[in-house]
Amino acid sequence: MSGAGWNVVRCGACKTCHGHRGTGRNCPHCGQKLQSDAEIVISVATPSELRIEVALANTPEELRDSLRKRLQANQKLFHQEEPISFQRLPQILLSATDGNGALSIETLQPVLDKNSINIDVEDLIAMSESQGLLVRLDTDCWQLLE
Ligand SMILES: [Zn+2]
Repeated sequence: MSGAGWNVVRCGACKTCHGHRGTGRNCPHCGQKLQSDAEIVISVATPSELRIEVALANTPEELRDSLRKRLQANQKLFHQEEPISFQRLPQILLSATDGNGALSIETLQPVLDKNSINIDVEDLIAMSESQGLLVRLDTDCWQLLE
């Protein structure tokens, strides 16, 4: 038993895996005291790896490969620093529109300033266009799509 770093430990009583710094004392799933020879499935260096390995350890073997791919792809998303969250984007765009659902660089820029969003307004528009949130109507005029 290594005890260093982060471990995925399998509870001898309920067979469920959980993550632990070191080895821990009780199973968080069934509350049983862990035996000193509780199985350490794998040891990893970081909590984010641990999150993935615990999820995998509790997944039937035939589903693990696809789950691993999904989790690792997810992890990349988490680590990417986005200047603006995509959830907020439609809201931001909406605040910049006039009564007809149209916006321009001139109306969008103050909204970005107000929300302390540090991104080039034209980049944001290009990003929104590529996501199908906006469609260009004129040189400096975009329509917000529902
Ligand atoms: Zn247990």
